[in-house]
Amino acid sequence: MRDTDRALVQAATAVAKLRCRSENHTVAAAARSADGRVFTGVNVYHFTGGPCAEVVAIGAAATQGVTELETIVAVGDRGRGVIPPCGRCRQVLLDYFPSIKVIVGPADGLRAVSVADLLPETYVWADQQVELATVPRTGVWPMPVVPGSRPAAED
Ligand SMILES: [Zn+2]
Repeated sequence: MRDTDRALVQAATAVAKLRCRSENHTVAAAARSADGRVFTGVNVYHFTGGPCAEVVAIGAAATQGVTELETIVAVGDRGRGVIPPCGRCRQVLLDYFPSIKVIVGPADGLRAVSVADLLPETYVWADQQVELATVPRTGVWPMPVVPGSRPAAED
């Protein structure tokens, strides 16, 4: 692992120690952009499906206008160390940043791996989007009917 990766783990660890002190916030994430800036976030637990720390860190980066992230790591509270991203986060990371590295592994064997390696044979959302260029987009109701879809019910 590079020094910048170790620094990213330290950043997430520091946020986990400082901010993850309740059941609502139990994981911290740190993400590094191509220009070296680090963005952090904590999960927002809620029974309706609050976002993981990785997603919050992505949002923090986006808030600052950063749309390219190189590496991300999540660290659990109470000294749990680096934890791997959940399935949903793996999919989000792959769709948003196909070349992002994710730091995973045990404390004595941390490594940065490609998110694609964490999701073999994955569903790629962009590959499944039907080309709609031939469908007129008026932006006003009623919206055009997508070929093959069910027409909207009349009032
Ligand atoms: Zn997650």
